Amino acid sequence: MGEVVYQHKDGLSLTLSSDELEMIEAVRRYCTGELLPFVRSHGPNYIPPETMRKIFKRLSEFGFVNGPLNAESGGLGISLKMFGLILEEVCRVSASVGTAALIQTLMARAFVNLATSDLRERYLQRILDCDLLGCIAISEPDVGSNVAEIKCKAVEVDGGYSISGSKSWISNGDYSDFCFCVARTGESPLTLDLFFVDRAVSPYDVRNIHKMGLNETSTAQVFFDNCVVPTENRLTFGGQGMRQVSILFAVSRPLTGVISVGIARAALDAAIEYSKVRTQHGKAIAGHQLVSAALGEMATHIDAARLLVLRALDMCDRGVRCDAEAAMSKWFASEMAVDVTSKAIQIHGANGIATEYEVERLFREARIFPIPEGTTEINKLIVGRALTGISAF
Ligand SMILES: Cc1cc2nc3c(=O)[nH]c(=O)nc-3n(C[C@H](O)[C@H](O)[C@H](O)COP(=O)(O)OP(=O)(O)OC[C@H]3O[C@@H](n4cnc5c(N)ncnc54)[C@H](O)[C@@H]3O)c2cc1C
Repeated sequence: MGEVVYQHKDGLSLTLSSDELEMIEAVRRYCTGELLPFVRSHGPNYIPPETMRKIFKRLSEFGFVNGPLNAESGGLGISLKMFGLILEEVCRVSASVGTAALIQTLMARAFVNLATSDLRERYLQRILDCDLLGCIAISEPDVGSNVAEIKCKAVEVDGGYSISGSKSWISNGDYSDFCFCVARTGESPLTLDLFFVDRAVSPYDVRNIHKMGLNETSTAQVFFDNCVVPTENRLTFGGQGMRQVSILFAVSRPLTGVISVGIARAALDAAIEYSKVRTQHGKAIAGHQLVSAALGEMATHIDAARLLVLRALDMCDRGVRCDAEAAMSKWFASEMAVDVTSKAIQIHGANGIATEYEVERLFREARIFPIPEGTTEINKLIVGRALTGISAF
């Protein structure tokens, strides 16, 4: 099998081995043969926890969940770049499933990085087997971009900490068996720490939020009401919680960008197909220059976004700090997908807004992603700060 090479002037060289190409082919076969028929028959309905768990277990055969972990942690040791390419294939078919499975993969990674050996012993294998599903709860009803304002509190009590507060917009909240909760442990703005909350031991309530898209998966409010977690479940001290979250963001931002690349690719595929069969003014609309140019622009922007996310993931793989590159890739890819899906609707004409054509769903899904993992504005400010050394927040 031949090799695919992406080159970047700063040295990004993504050469895929025949094994890696085979992994991508395998996930493509799964997506077309199994995932696509499932999502088509399931429609826009909520995928219940037990069904989602089965999907995660199946996806872990293709590099999800334990894929990007090293062998000592029970992983396959695939690179984040490689994981990004696999994720794109899934998101091209279902951004809902891709997003949910990405969260579980990130939670496994966060657990490996943060948990004590005792917690690892008790939980890691069950997390890798997707018998335990996780979420991360940072945002609150009044706290989004500025996490320094988090109100959820953890107070020391006999044998542990009592957590109280509401969290909002938590991906996989309803699916979760455990939650990484960021809570205030002191009065000064950045005294925020991370707690591992096992829902079976320390129950919390969850309520799904109905959104403009991605309703197949859970985005939820999570309520902690004097939720007592054992002492050993405190994962950070002295306000190190947000530092750990920012380390996670360096990886999760480009991977969120990948979701947008997958959505945009699905929209481009649909637009290409439609432009070849729809005829107006005596020929296929693909033969009209403005339609052809729009397709050319869409494909170019998708490639540009893919290269940005791969560059950031490559830096993460090499252990190079890449806050600015991660921020660039995320905002660019998510805004790109809004534009590309909108153009795909335009190419479909009136049919583009009919629910029987998938581009209207893709547009609604794409519109969601300029918000999580740092809004477009916040990510641009991160890039600006890296350029000037001056914070404009
Ligand atoms: C689908 C989805 C999944 C999510 N998953 C999770 C999750 O798993 N866990 C979690 O904790 N959170 C999650 N979130 C929440 C997400 O992190 C927040 O929505 C995001 O941080 C933005 O916060 P906000 O929505 O409160 O907007 P706000 O912070 O209120 O911002 C509102 C507007 O003001 C702008 N703005 C804010 N501050 C500034 C500034 N200084 N300069 C310029 N503009 C500014 C923003 O860019 C935005 O346009 C998710 C959100 C979504 C939509």
